[in-house]
Amino acid sequence: MKVLIVGGVAGGATAAARLRRLDETAEIVLLEKNAYISFANCGLPYYIGGVIQDEDDLLLQTPESFRERYNVDVRVFHEAVAIDRAAHMVHVKTADGKEYDETYDKLLLSPGASPIVPRMENADDPRVFTLRNIPDTRRIHAFVRDSKPRRAVIAGCGYVGLELAENLIAAGVSVTAIDLADSVIAPLDRDMAAEVHGYLEQKGVELLLSAELTAIRKDGDGLTVLAGARALPADMVVLSLGVRPETGFAHMSGLAINGRGFLITDEHMRTNDPDIYAVGDAAEVKNIVTGLPASIPLAGPANRQARIAADNIAGIASRYDGAQGSAILKLFDMTVATTGVNERTARSLSIPCGKVYTYSPSHAGYYPGGRNMSVKTLYDPETGVILGAQIVGFTGVDKRADVLATAVRMRMTAEDLTELELCYAPPFSSAKDPVNIAGYVIENARKGLVRQFFWDGVPAVQADENALLLDVRTKDEYARGAIGGCINIPLHELRARVGELPQGKPIYVYCHSGMRSYVACRILTGRGFDCRNLAGGYRFYSLVTSDLVKHPARQAAAAAVVPSLARDFFHKTGLSCSESTMELLQRIGKLADMPELTKSMSGFGGGMHRGLACGAVTGAVAALGAYCGRHLRGAPKEPLNSAVEAFLNEFESRFGSLTCDALIKDSGLSPEEQHKVCTGFVTAAVEIASRIMDEVRDAG
Ligand code: FAD
Repeated sequence: MKVLIVGGVAGGATAAARLRRLDETAEIVLLEKNAYISFANCGLPYYIGGVIQDEDDLLLQTPESFRERYNVDVRVFHEAVAIDRAAHMVHVKTADGKEYDETYDKLLLSPGASPIVPRMENADDPRVFTLRNIPDTRRIHAFVRDSKPRRAVIAGCGYVGLELAENLIAAGVSVTAIDLADSVIAPLDRDMAAEVHGYLEQKGVELLLSAELTAIRKDGDGLTVLAGARALPADMVVLSLGVRPETGFAHMSGLAINGRGFLITDEHMRTNDPDIYAVGDAAEVKNIVTGLPASIPLAGPANRQARIAADNIAGIASRYDGAQGSAILKLFDMTVATTGVNERTARSLSIPCGKVYTYSPSHAGYYPGGRNMSVKTLYDPETGVILGAQIVGFTGVDKRADVLATAVRMRMTAEDLTELELCYAPPFSSAKDPVNIAGYVIENARKGLVRQFFWDGVPAVQADENALLLDVRTKDEYARGAIGGCINIPLHELRARVGELPQGKPIYVYCHSGMRSYVACRILTGRGFDCRNLAGGYRFYSLVTSDLVKHPARQAAAAAVVPSLARDFFHKTGLSCSESTMELLQRIGKLADMPELTKSMSGFGGGMHRGLACGAVTGAVAALGAYCGRHLRGAPKEPLNSAVEAFLNEFESRFGSLTCDALIKDSGLSPEEQHKVCTGFVTAAVEIASRIMDEVRDAG
């Protein structure tokens, strides 16, 4: 049997090696269009940052060593350019211009996927890079070493883009990372990405989200990247905008290829031609959670698929059940891991999905060095089957993510998670591992022991006169910041002070992480109250909402937090807010299901950006944005932007650059004077916003 393999890295080399181990007599020819086979793609960013110092360490095999060990005819600089299925032949071009036909009995395609390069002027400038292989790595490495760039713009905040951000910073380059999406790392839900955003910024990565890359300009000696409303000066640009399957050579062959260019395969990794297999980044496989076709460009799936294809070629009927997208990323000291579906995907596919947020220590609190990790676990509300998980933390994230990935693969339920006996000693875990805890919380939710509400449900609770928001943290924690409109009864006082709570009103309870409030819910439920627990607690709520201020979200739901943020602001400062502003804010809440509301968030961000960090101002800007959004439904963005701009200009011209900090903290004003000035702020904000709204209405 003669097996021809196209592509010599993850999938291709794995398949060749497995096949040889299964069949000593097969003739195996491996075509690779570039110079290298079997290199460590996943290690490339770390060579640029200097973590991996010797380039040779990235080369797992050379053509010679592979040939020697596996008796495979490795041909580098040989590109497959067409397939003649009827003749069982592949047309090959070599780097030195020769062309020939190579026959096969079985053909295995593992050509991978290449970085997307947008069609735009200067995308081919030598200072604009992509990263896929050794030559790309060398180019970036040499440029950083020789040209000593000071500023890099990375377009695309996926795994590769962010790994590069870390490594360029390690190499002394300052980095702005931009993305069209409103959050980083697509498999993470927006709320779970909030912590990553803050951490990246803390580490010196400037993040520019919801910003489309529109142009790369040559500007003197440097480049200018236009993204969103910004013009970013750069000495180098890296495009990590995702990948596209490299299947052009197969397009005329009649092989089944989906609309995005992926080769369609069955559970044996076979294409619609029984003699042709496809694996890796170029293959369409099944997502085991959704059951739908998927393309998951990761090394693990590529390796497994390659092994299964080789098995089948050698006569062993192996099956590939599908991929689930288990991925992990090191970001400085942080670890981010995902597996299975996220909430966004589940909702978009109408897959019923419950969720819990837990915040668990990596190991016993009394043993030094532990850090908490945020875990979001998704489950099927009816069966309790685990659908996916996302973890953001610092230490011990990998092993929890792997256990949860196993749970997703084995279709385990939350109850199964509670029963997992995982290895425990204080330096490694707690007697209740974070995975067990996620299981317990889901189990409690499913058994009705606790009902949850979520961060984006807070504004509705605040707006509901019938509901009571109860903070059960300590007085000190409460004083440091709380959700506006709550009352504070620390957990340890709750039993004694239960008489202060109104019977018959639903009580929405929160604490720092959701644990103490769960206990409070049990106490109150046991005494006949109708209770709900804030999933993830105040920590998660404040993290997500303050992130939304910095990086306005695209989803309309995000706009719903505007009123709640303003309320929190007033709560924190102890300042009261005029009725009219509150009215405006409540209107935003009511309108929150309108997509146009996202525009109010940009107004909100605009106010913050200019340093007008006053709840009244930002609230009024948000209301203005919401109003314009509604009024100008379907109309071009421009009138809205000008309206918000006009508001900010007028406000600034009246109040100069007075910021909230200047007003409250640094002004030396007495509390009464602060209150007076702030009321002036509020009144002016409302007045200006109302007038501009009228102008917009008249113009519209
Ligand atoms: P590849 O490994 O890309 O191999 C395809 C090969 O086929 C290429 O060498 C290409 O030159 C060759 N080829 C293409 N067309 C032809 C042709 N017509 N003729 C001959 N040869 C051809 N995944 C993870 O799971 N974890 C990670 O941490 C991770 N980090 C990554 C970091 C970087 C910088 C990159 C680029 C990728 C990373 N990946 C990671 C993804 C992972 O490397 C890929 O999913 C995996 O390599 C896919 O294997 P493949 O065989 O399909 O394609």
